[in-house]
Order: sequence, then C-alpha cells, then structure tokens
Amino acid sequence: MAEETIFSKIIRQEIPTELLYQDELVTAFRDIHPRTPTHILIVPNVLIPTVNDVEPQHEMALGRMFTVARKLAAKEGISDDGYRLIVNCNRHGGQEVYHIHMHLVGGQPLGAMLA
Ligand code: 5GP
Repeated sequence: MAEETIFSKIIRQEIPTELLYQDELVTAFRDIHPRTPTHILIVPNVLIPTVNDVEPQHEMALGRMFTVARKLAAKEGISDDGYRLIVNCNRHGGQEVYHIHMHLVGGQPLGAMLA
C-alpha cells in the first residue's frame, strides 16, 4: 500500500484548498507555487504514486483528467492560445509528490522545450 501524500488530504478537504473541480474520479486545484499564470494540478482521487503504477483499472480516472484539463483550460481562457499538460515520473522526471498528477500550465508562451 503506497503512502498517502498531501494531495489525499486536499482531495478529502482535510486541508482547506479551493477546488476548481471534483467528481467521483478526479480533483483539480491550483498549484501552491504557480510557475505560469495558469498552473492547475489535476489528480485522480485514488492514490496512484507514479506513471509506473498505472494499471488498466485506472484508465477511467486518467482519461477523465484530460476531459477536465480541456474544460479548465477553456474556463481559464487559454484554449485558443494553447497550454501544456505535464506528468512527471520519479526522480529524473522531477516528481516531488508521489500521487500522480497532471500539471495544466499556460497563460504565457512556454517555448519549445518539453518541460
Ligand atoms: P511534481 O514536481 O511532483 O510534478 O509537482 C508537484 C507540485 O505540487 C509542485 O508544482 C508543487 O508546487 C505542488 N504542491 C506541493 N504541495 C502542494 C500543496 O500542498 N498544495 C498545492 N496546491 N500544491 C502543492
């Protein structure tokens, strides 16, 4: 059993954080240290530590993360200019919180780099 992170507490609202979206599968909230004008984290409610732990039964939640990203990007007004979705994995990927999450970043040109 993987160890819970701060994200589980946010999902359960044990730590007061404004939720931008929540349903039975995923939760979205703003990154505490935004790197771009829009910097939102979209997380599955179930604890999946990294991409290496993804299993077929997670596909619904992982797919929902993209639908929610699309909706939130529209709400933020960044759909037409564009944005980036990032999922970091493990140390070399720069992952800090071991509860899989998608970064939705945008609101400024992001350049040609991958991250
Ligand atoms: P990673 O490097 O794991 O892909 O990204 C983790 C992200 O979570 C970082 O961008 C960091 O700023 C954000 N973060 C860490 N702790 C908290 C928190 O308690 N609340 C929120 N809203 N974001 C957090």
